[in-house]
Amino acid sequence: MPHLPGFRRAGEEEASPAPFARAIRRSLPPLGRLRRERRDLVRAREGRLRDLGGLMLEMFRRDRFRQELLLGRCAELVELEDRIAELDTLIAAALSRGRSRPPVRCECGAAVFWGARFCAQCGRPLEAR
Ligand SMILES: [Zn+2]
Repeated sequence: MPHLPGFRRAGEEEASPAPFARAIRRSLPPLGRLRRERRDLVRAREGRLRDLGGLMLEMFRRDRFRQELLLGRCAELVELEDRIAELDTLIAAALSRGRSRPPVRCECGAAVFWGARFCAQCGRPLEAR
């Protein structure tokens, strides 16, 4: 069977899961990198879905269905979607980490909470932050 145009052979994108696997083992990567990686994966998913539809149509045209090929592509897509779901979890974790930063302190040393205009302990006016 000839190579279908615009269709990647298996194994060409084997490298893409590796950065994610490394990221999981280390501490939480920066939010920007997670979002970039997720965006790339979502884009790759869209392309693969299109390819899968094209492949199926081509098989229909040739009246020659190769079920194992379709199943393989579907399995790859599900794997990709699993990684996107994992990234969503990491992004949610990164976002909640950003919210739990320690409160800023007044010159007197008292903890000051977000949005406060005066220090509750000494009454100093606080700069807008
Ligand atoms: Zn104070």
